[in-house]
Amino acid sequence: MTVGALLNKYRKEAEYHDISLLLCELLDCPFLTLSLRKEEELSDRLLENFYTNYARLRNKEPVQYIIGKACFYGLEFSVSPEVLIPRPETEGLIELALQFIPENAKVLDIGTGSGTIAVTLKTLRPDLTLVATDISASALKIAKQNADYNNCAISFYQTDLYPETEDSFDFIISNPPYISPSDYAKLDTRIKEYEPKLALWAEENGLIFYRRILKEAKSKLKPEGLIFFEHGDEQRQNIIHLAETYGWETILIKDDLAGYPRYLGFK
Ligand code: GLN
Repeated sequence: MTVGALLNKYRKEAEYHDISLLLCELLDCPFLTLSLRKEEELSDRLLENFYTNYARLRNKEPVQYIIGKACFYGLEFSVSPEVLIPRPETEGLIELALQFIPENAKVLDIGTGSGTIAVTLKTLRPDLTLVATDISASALKIAKQNADYNNCAISFYQTDLYPETEDSFDFIISNPPYISPSDYAKLDTRIKEYEPKLALWAEENGLIFYRRILKEAKSKLKPEGLIFFEHGDEQRQNIIHLAETYGWETILIKDDLAGYPRYLGFK
């Protein structure tokens, strides 16, 4: 069977795009040039691999875990079920942060997961010094791999929020777990089944990590330092309230591209 014939077979399926990605991976072919290879014959071995992966896709496994890669801000990241698949909302956080991070700043990414925020910032702004933390050793392993792959020098620490040996940050950025236990139960089964609960679940009605980060941040930031968060769409007021309790002033309130409350900045 040729590439074109195989693609044609699935052209009406909802997962057509994901199917094309599976094929690109097997052919080691950039997505945009797949259509140039339509005449190519697929070997039996390749077809067999394709059908194995296709079965996983039909089982609702995210394509990013099947191919082990995700695209974020135009960069390529390795992902595994140990880390959350990067979301487009987080690209919005990066875009906003870039407008506020001063030159040569020392930046801390808390709960880096696959390292997307830290690696993207360092790639776009080589002047920055990046420190990134995660509680999960297996997530950090992937983050380090992503930093190496994208040629980024980043200091990683396995720790619960803040690194012990570093402070005087100019900027803290975080997309922490923010799904409350009751919302977690209502999540799409696809997310619950495949993505790491550790990266999603947050006690205190989804607010525990905002509270803990804000509480300690004064001792970790320089006096003029800033904190930027991504958050759940019903958490804006609660986080502002928490931040004010700890003496922070709100300097940024923004929605995501879908129009949901999603980003906050404090000084
Ligand atoms: N910081 C990572 C991201 O934005 C991981 C987030 C998380 O696991 N909660 O994708």
